[in-house]
Amino acid sequence: MKIYISADIEGVTGVTHWDETELSRPESATPREQMTAETVAACEGALEAGATEIWVKDAHDSARNLIASRLPREARLIRGWSRHPLMMMQELDETFAAALLVGYHSRAASDRNPLAHTLAGMVMRMRLNGRDTSEFLVNAFAASSLNVPVVFVSGDKGLCEEVAEVNAHIGTAAVKEGFGNSTISIHPDVATENIKNGVIQALKGERKKCLLPIPPRFTLDVEYKEPARAYQYSFYPGAKLTDPVTVRFEADQYFEILRFLLFAS
Ligand SMILES: [Zn+2]
Repeated sequence: MKIYISADIEGVTGVTHWDETELSRPESATPREQMTAETVAACEGALEAGATEIWVKDAHDSARNLIASRLPREARLIRGWSRHPLMMMQELDETFAAALLVGYHSRAASDRNPLAHTLAGMVMRMRLNGRDTSEFLVNAFAASSLNVPVVFVSGDKGLCEEVAEVNAHIGTAAVKEGFGNSTISIHPDVATENIKNGVIQALKGERKKCLLPIPPRFTLDVEYKEPARAYQYSFYPGAKLTDPVTVRFEADQYFEILRFLLFAS
């Protein structure tokens, strides 16, 4: 059984401020340790549930955060950005049995995590077929379009609630909750324990029920913080400006949505 893990940092327990998420800053050392620990916990859960091969994508910022030596020997690690449209899910294909998202966070314009955002900082808000969109949703559609279910998500409580709304079969582990610029976190060791157990349960469950139904057509609305960005990206082929800060892009194939986001976020 081949398992894919995409790991971010803004939904890792304890992580509260942007300074803690930047590789170049000394404050990022502890968050990187915990991001690694939570990813290792997901790997351990996957191995216990029967995984034989695990591909891990370091999916935060520089994509050079995870401490490779701590991963199990069955894992291979994807670092840096190829700029393939799958972005945070690079190298995912139909051969994977399931995908796990670790350290994921609430969407842009959410008040549930001080580090809430969707893809790029310039994005104020993103809607996919009318639904406010998180990186979880962007990537769960990417995986589902390849017939790979996202079966487990760990991150902040706001995100876990969103996951349950989208598909209640997907397992979740909430490791912190945001209020204003503060967070309330569970203990790092409790977080890793919950992630490991959650992954085991999710992989042993009815995985295919976690697939998101793929609609016949996608309408993506991206609202930017600056009108100048919206103006620029409205020149992407097929895109149009719907108000001074919003660009609409429509496509039948989800990959075209990902291709747009690669250039416009
Ligand atoms: Zn991130």
